[in-house]
Amino acid sequence: MSKKIAVLAGDGIGPEVIAETLKVLHAVEEKFGAKFEFNEALIGGAAIDEKGKALPDETLELCKNCDAILLGAVGGDKWDKLPPEERPERAALLPLRKEFDLFANLRPVKVFPALANASTLKAEIIEGGFDIMIVRELTGGIYFGKKGKGNDWASDELKYSVPEIERVAKVAFEIAMKRGKKVCSVDKANVLSSMVLWRETVEKLAKEFPEIELSHMYVDNAAMQLVRNPKQFDVIVTGNMFGDILSDEASMISGSIGMLASASLREDSFGLYEPIHGSAPDIAGQNKANPMATILSAAMMLRHSFGMEKEAKAVETAVNAVLEEGFRTGDIMQKNCKQLGTKEIGDEIAKRV
Ligand code: NAD
Repeated sequence: MSKKIAVLAGDGIGPEVIAETLKVLHAVEEKFGAKFEFNEALIGGAAIDEKGKALPDETLELCKNCDAILLGAVGGDKWDKLPPEERPERAALLPLRKEFDLFANLRPVKVFPALANASTLKAEIIEGGFDIMIVRELTGGIYFGKKGKGNDWASDELKYSVPEIERVAKVAFEIAMKRGKKVCSVDKANVLSSMVLWRETVEKLAKEFPEIELSHMYVDNAAMQLVRNPKQFDVIVTGNMFGDILSDEASMISGSIGMLASASLREDSFGLYEPIHGSAPDIAGQNKANPMATILSAAMMLRHSFGMEKEAKAVETAVNAVLEEGFRTGDIMQKNCKQLGTKEIGDEIAKRV
């Protein structure tokens, strides 16, 4: 049976990187006999222009009838003058995450050996590469807590319930079972009572995963350890705000923004897959964008929503092969490499699938 994918290309380089990703998914269909149904819909600035709304009702309906969402990027100068609550990022992405209860955000942070010198860290620290999966709780914690404001004070409540912690920790444990079987839970249990509950709950759940080596780390130490010795981590699980900060820190140590994929998952297999970069208006429409972050996000979709592990690996291996053979887009260009455009890189990756 074919898997239904909602394809939301969005603005700027969104349609360009999505086009290359569909090329690669077509190659997966050919190679493995998989069947995908691509359903395109408007989102972001493009949707505001045509439908007057960043997330039109028909786009939402279409997503509800699909098995996963593949998103390019939204936003751009043209819509920056709108009030904040009507701008594409806020009016399209936040409601999408909320509507589908996408509570677990996955960000792989990986150094491709061929791009090792794009990292901000010294060669000896990243030698041999590293491969971390950050699992961030996305729909709770301080960003969604009760807000208060008086004349000379303001407050944000940090509250987590046991079920909220359990479900995101379970995602982390299950992912670790398919990788290095190590989970590091990051909290601030020395100061915050919500984080004491976090730690207790993760520890209790760990009993169901006896093969997993569980460790705990305070968030300040985790921020330090990520730049001191990133190779020590396999899967990191943490709350919303800590995950926000740590995942941005971690993405910088891995190199270019054009390489970084992400997934946001619901409790069943449904998920939203998107690159972490924005719509890059400065290079839009010039065949310069790096499509690899979106292609790697699609590999995550194959793995996490469709259970297609060998197909996901084939896409990741193809990306790696293209890098090893010296093909680059401008953002990751290095000496003695061959610079290609968005379309040509997409062709090379599809060919290797
Ligand atoms: P950006 O990520 O779009 O661009 C930052 C820099 O990185 C730019 O120089 C850009 O050219 C470069 N870059 C980004 N992706 C690239 C790629 N795939 N290949 C090569 N180079 C790439 O961030 P920004 O400039 O702060 O934001 C531009 C617009 O995107 C804004 O409207 C912003 O609100 C929106 N935005 C959207 C999302 C999203 O859709 N999830 C995320 C962040 C920003």
